[in-house]
Amino acid sequence: MKRWKCPQDIHPGVLAPSKPRKNDIRRYCIPCSQKSGRLTERIAPAVAKARAVAAERAVKKAVVKKARAKAHTAAYYTVAGINALDYARKLATLPAFSKVKARTVQVEMHRTSKGSRIHGRAHSRATIELFVAPFWTETMLRHTILHELAHHQAPPKFAKRVWSVHHSGFQRVLARATKQADERIGAAGGYKPYLVGDGKAAHARR
Ligand SMILES: [Zn+2]
Ligand SMILES: [Zn+2]
Repeated sequence: MKRWKCPQDIHPGVLAPSKPRKNDIRRYCIPCSQKSGRLTERIAPAVAKARAVAAERAVKKAVVKKARAKAHTAAYYTVAGINALDYARKLATLPAFSKVKARTVQVEMHRTSKGSRIHGRAHSRATIELFVAPFWTETMLRHTILHELAHHQAPPKFAKRVWSVHHSGFQRVLARATKQADERIGAAGGYKPYLVGDGKAAHARR
């Protein structure tokens, strides 16, 4: 039983269950109701407090759940300590990938224990698949992402009755992107400071 009080704290209170029925007269302060002409509910400080505690607990639980989900996503994308999705999106900002919208890049991860014959695959839109083995290094990740992004920039061509995938246009894009990545983007995907004309360090352009 909980103590239910007049909301103005001017009329006597009663003891009632923490969840009295809607039509339970103990729920209402009758003198207040008569005065205002409307049913006026009593308040139960203990019930309100318990509700506040429960709400706080729910918020904490949601925070933990969100953090856990985030950690799970981070683990999903992590290769050699690097978030492959963030890295791919960063590499996609290179001028060589002018046709790739960096923010729309998606990465599908596959884990293989011994390594796969193919390291990656480019998909329609801006999706790339990675077939990652435990021995992958940052360099392998970087090369594979650059390669797959180059497929998005320079799609397969149909010429002389055959589809050519790694055609000269593709090779040019890959060479340009590799050079730009080496100049501008560091190992963990951060922009490298580079020297501008007057010898001062500046941040690489997007
Ligand atoms: Zn009252
Ligand atoms: Zn390829």
